[in-house]
Amino acid sequence: MRLSQFHLSTTKEVPADAEIASHQLMLRAGMIRKLAAGIYTWSPLGLKVLRRVENVVREEMNAAGAVEMLMPSVQPKELWEETGRWEKFGGQLLKISDRKHGEFCYGPTHEEVVTDFARNELKSYKQLPLTVYQIQTKFRDEIRPRFGVMRAREFLMKDAYSFHIDAESLDTEYWNMYRAYERVFTRLGLGFRAVHADTGAIGGSASHEFHVLADSGEDAIAFSDGSDYAANVEMAEAVSPGERAGPAEDLRDVDTPTQTTCEAVAELMGIPLTRTAKTVVYCVDGEDPQLIVALVRGDHSVNEIKLSKLDGIGGFRTAEESEIRAAFGCSPGFLGPVGLPTKVSTRALEAVRIDEFSSRAPNIERRVRVIADRTVAAMSDFVVGANRDGFHIAGVNWGRDLPEPAVVADIRNVVEGDPSPDGKGNLAIARGIEVGHVFQLGDRYAAAMDATVLDENGKARVMSMGCYGIGVSRIVAAAIEQNHDDAGIIWPQPMAPWDAVVCMINPKGDAATIEAAEALYADLRKAGLDVALDDRGLRPGVMFADIELIGVPHRIVVSPRGLEAGTFEYRGRRDSESQNLDRSALLEKLGIA
Ligand code: ATP
Ligand code: MG
Repeated sequence: MRLSQFHLSTTKEVPADAEIASHQLMLRAGMIRKLAAGIYTWSPLGLKVLRRVENVVREEMNAAGAVEMLMPSVQPKELWEETGRWEKFGGQLLKISDRKHGEFCYGPTHEEVVTDFARNELKSYKQLPLTVYQIQTKFRDEIRPRFGVMRAREFLMKDAYSFHIDAESLDTEYWNMYRAYERVFTRLGLGFRAVHADTGAIGGSASHEFHVLADSGEDAIAFSDGSDYAANVEMAEAVSPGERAGPAEDLRDVDTPTQTTCEAVAELMGIPLTRTAKTVVYCVDGEDPQLIVALVRGDHSVNEIKLSKLDGIGGFRTAEESEIRAAFGCSPGFLGPVGLPTKVSTRALEAVRIDEFSSRAPNIERRVRVIADRTVAAMSDFVVGANRDGFHIAGVNWGRDLPEPAVVADIRNVVEGDPSPDGKGNLAIARGIEVGHVFQLGDRYAAAMDATVLDENGKARVMSMGCYGIGVSRIVAAAIEQNHDDAGIIWPQPMAPWDAVVCMINPKGDAATIEAAEALYADLRKAGLDVALDDRGLRPGVMFADIELIGVPHRIVVSPRGLEAGTFEYRGRRDSESQNLDRSALLEKLGIA
């Protein structure tokens, strides 16, 4: 490619609305242009990189035995109603209607379409197992599209789906895909970690996410320093602490006129934060209305995903301040578990919420349930709010000053230094960008859509399914997060738009220099490199800044001065100096000698 014929469009200015390095650099390098929120055009330069990622993914999928296909982006509502996801998928589903008022969505994912394909195509166990994949544009109407293509609304995904006669076959393919994912991310030169993931609303048995480790990542990952245990923080178990010690202190009031946080109370009292407990109140509405009083140690935080998995809690919301005051007679900063009622009339509560006379509000009773985190349940002589504004109480002990907690469970986020749940080592916490996700779906979709095949005995059996996604466009941004410096992007070789650029510096239009640059350009291409010839006639400083910004691994300068000395000026993207090399040394550097 001659850069004079290519549309390269770089800028020095850091775009004002781009928060993270990859977003800034992709804009500065001119790889993407925003069309609307979360919707981007890929420029010729951007597309070159995207295609390289896509090809690695495709090669590894093919090598793993998956077969490529292509499904429509626009999908009929009726299919999504079969699985109940037309409603359940929520606001992320972009719904559209056609001229005949038929309803459709733009596919955010393809379980429904592929299951429909499978139930029509697959009749016998002899056709199984089968793994299909596609590389295709998805649309999800994300609440907060941000960071450019990292969390876009329109993005490119590789999605694969596998079909099996039983769970065992699914498990085998799951690990086959897992290993293919490891190969994809290794080949792309990314630092990554596979982590246990929440199987969440989709249900199913096993799931791993593949994360590229980067400080700007949206997900927190806990991993052990003593084993290969790694999990999403939302998933990682906080193991039970040791036995609770007996009471040593008497219960006493502490004056805390303005101290409404555990931190402030600990500071006032001159005690460690670990001696305090934090009280957070949630409301469960519906058939069994409850006020959940959740307790975690002062330095911990409530994990609402873990909380939501406890019996009888399901959907809950954070209690409003007015509700807390109506139920417990104090503001949230002075709440505690001592002396709580077991039931609270909702008349008072609803009255504040709906701002009417309490006599007109329905009189339901909410049960008050104290749920203590395992760590809090093992504490003695601790400090909590007194349920009176301006006061806390110290020397609190379970069983003596308040009943044993109704529920003891793991309801907190793990923190740095917690023991690893597998008993080996301690947890460290790092941030990650989810670039891939493998998932054993089981019969979740196949059962809902009646996707069956005949087994060996001629009996209809619901197929087992797996699904496997890779965020192809997100990988481009994630790679930049991991690989950049002040000058710009530093592509891992397999993702680079070009392997090398031959820069022609020839202000006087010297014929020998043109010839030498053209000859090298032709030779490198013949040797199998994807090379660009920078024949734009720019000043060296401007030219070099561009090539560094767009992250090309190898830069070779052909100039009259070098020609005289019989050398080329070479610089690797990570090098701090350039070197003058003769032809054979240069070819060796480029790995084609
Ligand atoms: P996230 O938790 O980041 O929202 P997800 O779990 O909803 O992602 P999956 O349904 O597992 O995503 O989709 C497969 C892959 O597609 C993800 O691992 C991710 O790399 C990519 N992906 C998902 N949403 C987006 C998005 N909005 N923009 C870019 N890539 C995305
Ligand atoms: Mg996911």
